[in-house]
Amino acid sequence: MSSPIIGVFALQGDVREHLRVLGGLGVRPIAVRRPDELAACDGLVLPGGESTTMAKLARTFDLLEPLRARIKDGMPTFGTCAGMILLAERIEDGAPGQETLGGLDITVRRNAFGRQVDSFEGDLAFDGFDAPVHAVFIRAPWVEQLGPDVEVLATVPTGEAAGRIVAVREGHLMATSFHPEVGADDRIHRYFVELVRQHRAQVS
Ligand code: GLN
Repeated sequence: MSSPIIGVFALQGDVREHLRVLGGLGVRPIAVRRPDELAACDGLVLPGGESTTMAKLARTFDLLEPLRARIKDGMPTFGTCAGMILLAERIEDGAPGQETLGGLDITVRRNAFGRQVDSFEGDLAFDGFDAPVHAVFIRAPWVEQLGPDVEVLATVPTGEAAGRIVAVREGHLMATSFHPEVGADDRIHRYFVELVRQHRAQVS
């Protein structure tokens, strides 16, 4: 079987970093700006950026409905930070009328850490990993509430936000509040690539 094509939503956000990490993992990474590019993907990353702008641009470039359809149809999708917001079914503290793609049965609080501190870094345990991940948070959301089928992959270990949920998975969908594309640790992207490979093996 040829290597899977993994798209990175590329109308806005930190696209290049995700393409770089994916490029080291034996998959074919592509930037996705058009419906035909989305159609070629076996999996998709929704990067960090500005979730309101990303949703508006997706609508303008006729990607919003195709994205919703692919996600609903089972395409493995990984949202980081703003991408987590895009994947969420519900938002707290969203901009008025802010749209999401949905799919992940979570409520996210946008800019959740913002009241305490805008950006910070820390080590946290990630489900299934031997060693902690170094997580970089930039005006990050957290998961305020989750549905019964959503697994928690990571929480904030210490400080005022201790216990807050910052990584989740529901079947073919996963999301982190932080930015795993920053730095040299590619384990979270590997985890996602594995989801894409498994899904591909099932559908082919
Ligand atoms: N605060 C941004 C938003 O609401 C997300 C920040 C990020 O992706 N680094 O979209």
